[in-house]
Amino acid sequence: MQTQLVVIGGGPGGYAAAFLAADEGLQVVLVEAEGRLGGTCLLRGCIPSKALLHVARVVSETQEMEHDWGVSFGTPTIEIDKLRERKNKVIDTLSGGLGGLAKKRNVTIVKAFAKFESANTLSLEGDDPSIPEGGKIHFENAIIATGSTPAFPGAFNIGSDRVMDSTGALDLKDIPETMLVIGGGYIGLEMGTVYANMGTKVSVVELQDGLLMGADRDLVRPLAKRLKSLFDDRIFLNTKVGSVSKSGDDKVEVTFEGPSKFGSEKYDRVLISVGRSPSTRNLGLENLPSIQTDQRGFIVHDDNLQTGMENIYVIGDAAGEPMLAHKANHEGRHAVEVILGHATTFDKRAIPAVVFTDPEIAWAGLTVEEAKRDGVSHQVVAYPWAASGRAQALGRTEGMTKWVVDPETERILGCGIVGPNAGELIAEAALAIEMGCVVRDIAETVHAHPTLGETMMNAAEVFYGTATEIYKPKKKPAK
Ligand code: NAD
Repeated sequence: MQTQLVVIGGGPGGYAAAFLAADEGLQVVLVEAEGRLGGTCLLRGCIPSKALLHVARVVSETQEMEHDWGVSFGTPTIEIDKLRERKNKVIDTLSGGLGGLAKKRNVTIVKAFAKFESANTLSLEGDDPSIPEGGKIHFENAIIATGSTPAFPGAFNIGSDRVMDSTGALDLKDIPETMLVIGGGYIGLEMGTVYANMGTKVSVVELQDGLLMGADRDLVRPLAKRLKSLFDDRIFLNTKVGSVSKSGDDKVEVTFEGPSKFGSEKYDRVLISVGRSPSTRNLGLENLPSIQTDQRGFIVHDDNLQTGMENIYVIGDAAGEPMLAHKANHEGRHAVEVILGHATTFDKRAIPAVVFTDPEIAWAGLTVEEAKRDGVSHQVVAYPWAASGRAQALGRTEGMTKWVVDPETERILGCGIVGPNAGELIAEAALAIEMGCVVRDIAETVHAHPTLGETMMNAAEVFYGTATEIYKPKKKPAK
């Protein structure tokens, strides 16, 4: 098989690249070991977890209704088989849709595991009929979009399906009575939220002295408070897991070493969510010595996503942090633009990050921590949701919206939001940073009332000391 472009990996990076290349008239082959498109995000990541988080949110809202509003629905009963079926249906619908789109665009899908034999040849492993005779693809350009897999340290690998990674947790085998989440990052807190709302007694152990250490502390605080209650005060920070072992009663025994938890405890299930590793081994890169990987396994590349071989590109999780589907998608499209010879750049400055917990946390651009670390002159203007009519009506006043602004130029450097729907609201911030907005642009944009989106405008007004619903005069410069 001979092609102009081969894409290795059919996740949100790989299929976006393949589809754009085909739309632009290139002949494209996409090699995907699983045979169906979607990658981690669709098949065992973003989409199934959001389907389950939707259920979790409804359960917690009905509880809030009863507690705060006097409207009760009774205790929910959960049919786990039906729930799993529905989640799988969401995946099948979307993956089937992608398959149909690939066909319409004449993108050839080959179900195989691809390895580089040389800078122009891939060898294919597998026995699917889609594999061409001879088991090789000769290509002009290649895009590596192989993604990542959950990190699973050897000490936790005790040969029991009671110790799971995120894929196992999304499989929803049962609703365990107790579950320990190891790692208080994105995955641990999202999946912990799902299971706790389904009735599991969830505990979280985290090595560092806070949850979600990549996010600003003031954004994490309202979430940590709510999780403390959801997880029954069982969040163990600064704590190391000593050992994990099978116990005689079909449980998992875990030992802890830390100030808030010491000794051992048994759990029905344990979720390992301690990060992800790029899938760049076994790709035959040893046959291409000019392509380098760094110590974490990310493939070294330039701003155009070009590796040490000028016709081989890398995108998405295999290319480095942040390991986010939307970053992969944009990188995929950028790599294709470069291959087509278009004048193009991709600036990572405004990639939004969203943690889909309750409340959600979202940020884009420079965080306050990054601004401090890098010595960037900045001013933070924040608007508490307690002053928002919509947040009051929803009973969710713990939220906050803040802008990070360059005080000299008044240009927006970053944004952080905590509160329900923060993940939707952050789109405005990404656009503001992308467009190079000054804070007045946001303050003078009419936002509909009463919406949570208004807090974006209100926080911008705080910069000028003129927010209507809070009294916060602008500080006079010191004489
Ligand atoms: P993470 O990096 O977000 O969090 C891992 C946490 O585990 C860290 O806080 C770390 O300190 C802790 N940790 C590491 N080793 C530990 C140990 N032995 N004991 C206790 N704690 C330990 O990683 P993740 O939650 O596994 O997610 C992986 C990646 O997947 C994320 O970086 C993110 O890019 C992506 N992801 C994104 C979303 C989203 O966009 N909403 C959701 C899920 C995953």
